[in-house]
Amino acid sequence: MTNKANDCTASANAASANAALADTGKVNTGSVITGSVLVHPQELDKKWIDRCVSLGIPRIGLHPVGGGEAAKSLDDLLCRLKTSEFRSLLDYAVERGLEIEYEFHAARWCLPASEFEAHPEWMRMNDAGERVGDLNFCVTNEAALDFYARRAVECAKQLYRSGKRFYFWMDDAKGGACRCPKCREYSVSDQQLIVANRVISELRREIPDACLAYLAYVDCMTPPTVKPADGIFLEFAPIERDFHKPLDDPDSEKNRHEIEHLPALLEYFGHDNAKVLDYWLDNSLYSGWKKPPKEFHEYRDVIAADFKYYRALGIHDLATFACYLGEDYIELYGEPDISAFAAELAK
Ligand SMILES: [Zn+2]
Repeated sequence: MTNKANDCTASANAASANAALADTGKVNTGSVITGSVLVHPQELDKKWIDRCVSLGIPRIGLHPVGGGEAAKSLDDLLCRLKTSEFRSLLDYAVERGLEIEYEFHAARWCLPASEFEAHPEWMRMNDAGERVGDLNFCVTNEAALDFYARRAVECAKQLYRSGKRFYFWMDDAKGGACRCPKCREYSVSDQQLIVANRVISELRREIPDACLAYLAYVDCMTPPTVKPADGIFLEFAPIERDFHKPLDDPDSEKNRHEIEHLPALLEYFGHDNAKVLDYWLDNSLYSGWKKPPKEFHEYRDVIAADFKYYRALGIHDLATFACYLGEDYIELYGEPDISAFAAELAK
């Protein structure tokens, strides 16, 4: 693999990344597997950081809660990032060799519903032809796009210790695209990419080597037709999969459906920077997104088979949600076993 000027790969692990940096000034991951765990900010502690270091997991992604609370939980994260306690924790992670990223549903935060009164035309149109301030926005409205992209940059600048890859996902919902006469010409995937292209262009004015994810998730699994701008990379998050069966299990209709467009997505966005965001350690999902957390067990065979599948497709960056495995989990069940995921990363 060669690094391009707009290369968006994260470093593989501290040792190899540092060696590559020393030689070339750039990180070159080659075919080495890298990855991350995504945890809720309020669950991050020294224990999580030390666990990642000891297991060789090179990166932590901070993921404020999604769903209908996404805007509020992003606000909470930004408040937390102003505190010296949380900044010290992130300093500690970086000093121990970990990378930090932030991944969240950002649409409602970047274009708050409170703008509805002043700019109803910025809001999405639903199937009934009404402008509604519930989800996403009207992506063919230039003023709305400008406002949105400026807010995204304002947010990015507050993400303390963040790497150069950013994740400003659209709202966490199906069927939330704009249906106005102009937007209706575009698929949901295209609508997301129109927004991402505007955000990356604005981001790169402030952070020249910034990269931004296109999230292949729920109704954005089909490849777009809009051309991705430099710095856009594919992130594949198959939430509708069967978590108990390997993704390429031909007997799983759900999994067949989830991976149907992955080869075409890779073709469209490129393999080199592609990243998977799977659910192998997502105890929030396995707990029905309700605390207290349930006891967690890795599906070790599924993890091994999925890594084999993704690697065969040329994907080398494999992340997983790992929420609901914080201090309250340990109090109930002891240290969670995430060794199968770590072992696959180390291969
Ligand atoms: Zn529209």
